[in-house]
Amino acid sequence: MDGWPIPLGQTLITYLAFTAIIILRYFAIVWPIHHMLWRRDPSKVKARRLSKREPTPQTIRHEITLSTLSAFIYATPAAVVLEMWKAGGTAMYSGAVEGLWGWAYLGVSGFLFLFVQDSYFYWTHRIMHHKKIFSWAHAGHHKSVQPTPWASFSFDPFEALISAWLLPVMALFVPLHVGMALALLMIMTINAVFNHAGWEVYPERWVRGWYGRHIITASHHNLHHTKFTGNYGLYFRFWDYVCGTDKGQV
Ligand SMILES: [Zn+2]
Ligand SMILES: [Zn+2]
Repeated sequence: MDGWPIPLGQTLITYLAFTAIIILRYFAIVWPIHHMLWRRDPSKVKARRLSKREPTPQTIRHEITLSTLSAFIYATPAAVVLEMWKAGGTAMYSGAVEGLWGWAYLGVSGFLFLFVQDSYFYWTHRIMHHKKIFSWAHAGHHKSVQPTPWASFSFDPFEALISAWLLPVMALFVPLHVGMALALLMIMTINAVFNHAGWEVYPERWVRGWYGRHIITASHHNLHHTKFTGNYGLYFRFWDYVCGTDKGQV
């Protein structure tokens, strides 16, 4: 396989750098959002609060611990694929996007990655709610009945392991522009932080309109945390509608 084997020493350095970047990214994005939503006078926050309960310091500590642990797991496939990309062994490409087909493919590839990730997440998430595996596979994420932005990356090691590899492995086979890869990482992060914020940050007319009927926001995902069943999706309500697991919005 092109790009394989990868240099071990360099991969270790890339791995440590990725781990640090993921942890820094987490604090750099989550801290200001948490501060803006939960640390200010509620009457000044331009968002709809979804829970009356204040998050406890123990909840936040638990979310930060699992999220930090997840960074060490997520960095592994990311570092391997980056080293393979440097050696020309992935389907990722860079440089100027040219022509109508180039731009059209850029959009299609971005949507494809999101849809595959959403489908994979929906089904693995539903399986992890099975009582035989829930306690060690997914309970860590649900310790926050009322999540805070710090829960955005808070997964049990098993859940982190089964989700971390998907996008890097897809990038080995499905052409993806480096710029689109960065955009997808940004979408993933912002989506996860907003959906666990404990506040609905999108305008009500979006949440109750076309956007909210198709795209998952905190009003939808919060119900998953408070009710435990239903609303299993990540970005789109598609699979919840198809499988009859959509429980609506708060
Ligand atoms: Zn769940
Ligand atoms: Zn969640």
